[in-house]
Amino acid sequence: MRPSPITAPPADAEARKAVRPVVCYPTDTLPRPDLAAYRALRDGLRRVGTVVVPPRDAATWTVPAGHFFRIASVEGPQVGDLNLFNAGDLKERLYTGKTRALNGTHVGLGDQLFSSFPYLRPIATITHDTLDWYGFDAFGGSVHDVIGTRCDPYTHNLLSDGGQYHHCCHSNLTRALAAATGLPPAEAEAHVHDVLNVFMCTGFSRDTGQYFMKASPVRPGDYLEFFAEVDLLGCLSACPGGDCSSEHSSDTARCHPLLVEIYEPAGRPEGWAPPAVNGYDRSHGL
Ligand SMILES: [Zn+2]
Repeated sequence: MRPSPITAPPADAEARKAVRPVVCYPTDTLPRPDLAAYRALRDGLRRVGTVVVPPRDAATWTVPAGHFFRIASVEGPQVGDLNLFNAGDLKERLYTGKTRALNGTHVGLGDQLFSSFPYLRPIATITHDTLDWYGFDAFGGSVHDVIGTRCDPYTHNLLSDGGQYHHCCHSNLTRALAAATGLPPAEAEAHVHDVLNVFMCTGFSRDTGQYFMKASPVRPGDYLEFFAEVDLLGCLSACPGGDCSSEHSSDTARCHPLLVEIYEPAGRPEGWAPPAVNGYDRSHGL
């Protein structure tokens, strides 16, 4: 908690605080996907692969551009930490900061996930969310945030007087990515990035702005569905926090597996083409 202010407010403090906010990025110029065209394919989906993500561990999968994948709750409430990469180029990966700036703190139906610079393009589109009824609760909480970073052993070490815990999402993602790519663990670790917190219910406290979590409303049968805009390598950790109602970075919480399902549609969305990499010429004024 921050100490109380030590600076006296200026005479026009109230007027300054009363200035109305404006949304940072004009949403009317953000290209939006034709959600109906994606969803028109959902009746003809054929499941072509499944991956079980064990509790307190992570797993990877690939999904070709034009296919769908779902992350599903099975057995019990469980939060998942998602990394996404261009399957052909690990340097292009999910950029949660810009995804957050363009969509909001939490993502859902119709939102697109954007990739890192210099690619900055949509790499996945959310086409179904069985938790879309949740919206924002009275605490300001919602599901599927792109604000939390991932639980990790370094922060745990910092906050627990030197604790060593090896099944934080960061470590789970590192092990799974190393296994999938053949990279040495230290190199794989450098590719692990800030996550989409699938099913996690989070927000910022109104009075102090502190990041909070609460028990996820997810139940077995719920799922979040994506359309792959490019060939994707997915990596998902079943967080040691379980439903994230109390604590993570320990073996205390009750944890459950997550299920990833890959679906092939009968066709492609009408008018759809894989998005081109960003059109900025990268000369940076030089
Ligand atoms: Zn975690």
